[in-house]
Amino acid sequence: MNFASTERAESFRAEVRGFLAEHVTDEVRRRVEETGTHHDWGLHRAMADRHWIAASWPEEYGGLGWGPWEMNVLEEELFLAGAPRDGMSLTMTATNAIHHAGSDEQRRSVIPRVLSGEILLCLGWSEPDAGSDSASAKTRAARDGGSWVINGQKMFTTMAHEATYVFLLTRTNTEVPKHRGLTMFLVPTDTPGFELQPVHTLGGERTNITFYSDVRVPDSARVGEVDHGWDVMRVALSYEHGTSWGAHLERLVQRGAAWARATGRIEEPSVAERLARAATDAEVAMLLGQYSAWVGESGRISDVEASMAKLFSSEALVRHSGELVDVIGPEALLKDGQPGSVADGDFEHAYRQSVVRTIYAGSSEMQRNIISQRGLGLPRG
Ligand SMILES: Cc1cc2nc3c(=O)[nH]c(=O)nc-3n(C[C@H](O)[C@H](O)[C@H](O)COP(=O)(O)OP(=O)(O)OC[C@H]3O[C@@H](n4cnc5c(N)ncnc54)[C@H](O)[C@@H]3O)c2cc1C
Repeated sequence: MNFASTERAESFRAEVRGFLAEHVTDEVRRRVEETGTHHDWGLHRAMADRHWIAASWPEEYGGLGWGPWEMNVLEEELFLAGAPRDGMSLTMTATNAIHHAGSDEQRRSVIPRVLSGEILLCLGWSEPDAGSDSASAKTRAARDGGSWVINGQKMFTTMAHEATYVFLLTRTNTEVPKHRGLTMFLVPTDTPGFELQPVHTLGGERTNITFYSDVRVPDSARVGEVDHGWDVMRVALSYEHGTSWGAHLERLVQRGAAWARATGRIEEPSVAERLARAATDAEVAMLLGQYSAWVGESGRISDVEASMAKLFSSEALVRHSGELVDVIGPEALLKDGQPGSVADGDFEHAYRQSVVRTIYAGSSEMQRNIISQRGLGLPRG
């Protein structure tokens, strides 16, 4: 691997840092912490104004034509600044799929509103009995004349309470193997019969259960061919794996080191040693993310490398957030705003949230399956 980032990417890093220092204020962070909604419309629209929401897209489609290096820098800096980015990343996962598989009408009516920062999309894939294996989805879509009637329930539809559309995975055929009877729809969240209920997770993040009771949509809401929804899902899933998971750990190490220096506890060998171990893993995690970006730059699909980066980084975050809480002591468990809390409650927050990160965007076991089967050529488990 060539470890050198591009000159363009590094000059861009300074620009992103300046921008985030201005827009990711303490007030924004506090609101995210209080509501669990990892999205800020002000930040989102300011990014849209700079064409950063779809920066990897060609200029003719409203992007900036950036390569994986530049995108990696943007993601790294967003994570390092603790910027709320769920709205943007979920929206772009769906929008990339619509860009590839949607109708001309969908592209015309949805994409410009996404790129201008006007609307968000969310992902309605997981169900109570279909998470890792989302192709087992049971939410039913049945044809009725020129429209479709949808009935069922989705679990973990994050950002549905802010989104204009759910990018919904449905079952349209029960007579064929599960991957072949699925169809995707773009369902407006103001359609009668659509309801949601908030779910607050261990990590503090708010997500939703979404319910579909005789939700009627026209055939023009269908994305891709009937019963070929899995082809559309595969496109979407290839955009779900980010490359910057390591930046969470890097941010924690930076805050841990600042705490240790400010309190003088950096002099204690056990504190220094634990910080050094965390810093070493953070470096490995960042390099795995950069390796994945570099593989993408070389024109290959970096699914195995992205899985390596996600698996190592999210599991290292669990280990080190626990170790740092251990080193700091009970006050590390106080939340932001509570008297005596340390580093704005960042350690406490990371301790809770790290576990959740090993689940979404593919659990650790699913990442191991990808690495062993596609990377190492081992048989299916
Ligand atoms: C905070 C949060 C936000 C989310 N946001 C969204 C969203 O916006 N949209 C959406 O559609 N979904 C979302 N999800 C759902 C997420 O994708 C699923 O939780 C995840 O895929 C795991 O599915 P599950 O929870 O049903 O667990 P299960 O799939 O039931 O897994 C349970 C356990 O079994 C293991 N396991 C499962 N299959 C295998 C296998 N083949 N081999 C080995 N081990 C296996 C898993 O690793 C896990 O440990 C979100 C989840 C969380 C926690």
